[in-house]
Amino acid sequence: MDLKNLIRTIPDFPKPGIQFKDIESITEHPEAFSHVVERFSEAMEAHDIDKIVALDARGFLFGGALGLRQKLPIVMARKKGKLGGDCVAETYALEYGSAEVELQKTAIKSGEKVMIIDDLLATGGTAAAAAALVNQVGGDVTLFAFVIELDGLNGRAQLGDVDTVALVSF
Ligand code: 5GP
Repeated sequence: MDLKNLIRTIPDFPKPGIQFKDIESITEHPEAFSHVVERFSEAMEAHDIDKIVALDARGFLFGGALGLRQKLPIVMARKKGKLGGDCVAETYALEYGSAEVELQKTAIKSGEKVMIIDDLLATGGTAAAAAALVNQVGGDVTLFAFVIELDGLNGRAQLGDVDTVALVSF
């Protein structure tokens, strides 16, 4: 399956000069979506994952499908203010300004092995913040998984020595 050729680029979105990778090119094709989920399933075989943390918002699609396929619990790391209950929070830098992500305190038990999943790895700020959330509640991030990795932004450097899988790179 040639995922790379399938993925559309939207020029100048969300602002001029940005070449946005549109992962709906995958989710609108059940065969491609299913292929992605199988590839993630293979990648996690070597890891004894207890829980999947899916990142807001496109990570929910892939994390949701993978969690159901693997019969694993799925929890959400969300942008500030979207989750109810007691949450832990992490602030991370954006190109201009900052953003905050949250996780419910009871979402992960101490010592659980966690996989973090999102659609795309760019600078790594979002995924690193999610890992910090998991660490705050005592979880152990043992795998990062992305459909797409943007080369040249050095996102992996933000993720330490945790195993990281990306299915396609641009
Ligand atoms: P980072 O924090 O690694 O710089 O950015 C990754 C986050 O930004 C992900 O949550 C991802 O959804 C979003 N993102 C950044 N650029 C793109 C893009 O070109 N396409 C998509 N689908 N998401 C992007």
